[in-house]
Amino acid sequence: MKENQLHELLFLDPVCTHNIWGGTRLREEFGYPVEGDGIGECWGISAHPEGDGTVRSGSFQGEKLSGLWDKHPELFGNLPYDRYPLLTKIIDAQDDLSIQVHPDDAYAQVYENGSLGKTECWFICDCAEDAAIVIGHNARTKEELEEMVRQGKWTELIREIPIHKGDFLQIDPGTVHAIKAHTLILETQQNSAITYRLYDYDRLQNGKSRELHIDKSLDVITVPAKSAQESVKSANGLPENELNQIYACGKYTIFKLDVNGNASFEQKYPFLAASVLEGAGTMNGAEVRKGDHFIIPCGFGKVEGNGNMSLILSTVES
Ligand code: ZN
Repeated sequence: MKENQLHELLFLDPVCTHNIWGGTRLREEFGYPVEGDGIGECWGISAHPEGDGTVRSGSFQGEKLSGLWDKHPELFGNLPYDRYPLLTKIIDAQDDLSIQVHPDDAYAQVYENGSLGKTECWFICDCAEDAAIVIGHNARTKEELEEMVRQGKWTELIREIPIHKGDFLQIDPGTVHAIKAHTLILETQQNSAITYRLYDYDRLQNGKSRELHIDKSLDVITVPAKSAQESVKSANGLPENELNQIYACGKYTIFKLDVNGNASFEQKYPFLAASVLEGAGTMNGAEVRKGDHFIIPCGFGKVEGNGNMSLILSTVES
């Protein structure tokens, strides 16, 4: 195949996981064919060994995303990464998740066998009227943080802020964070799984508490935390039928696209990883609906959306 000639959307069959805190919305609302309850995560666009998506149709039907990345780097703009750099998940939390923090690349390189660190961000697809999320903490100094952690002053330490449907939150490495019950989010993250568990609400699982990583957490938590105000912004009310950039950092760029009628834009990025979060319509003639995940490859040309639907898209800097 010649470079930059694929005018085909790469639809992916995702990998879903069962988790004690998961629900049934990923099957019932998003249509993923998963048995049982407690479906916590849909790894919608993932080349991670623990959940490698498969191309659903077309020229590359049956290929894993990791394989496609290796064999056809031109589809992703020939980026200088050794693996597909992102991981897009939908998470359905029906219970509170444990409170965590991630290291940055430099710390993970030294203390986690050369792994990448983890930067991630959340788009709130749905939550209760008076919902909150854990982001940041209230310690003013490293000493105060250590004292609060060692003495178990969790309610004093942990900061919760109100959230609403359509909010966007950036979780830099070193940010204490957790999703609370009855929240549905789309997470875009670096392709890494290094997580330190700081606090698990003193819960027991099969009679035992889950392992905590207190020392590593204390090493990496940023003090003081970013202000509550700086930690969340609304992605509501953006212009319809336009590719709206809502966030960019060195690890990824995130867009929101609300199609109402016709939307068209040029694919000028190394790739665009797209997830349909609401509604239905067509993309360049292909039918799409809530729950679909696809990659718009490099050099695709003009992207044309039709219908009534809401998408989150991501890419990386070339
Ligand atoms: Zn996280």
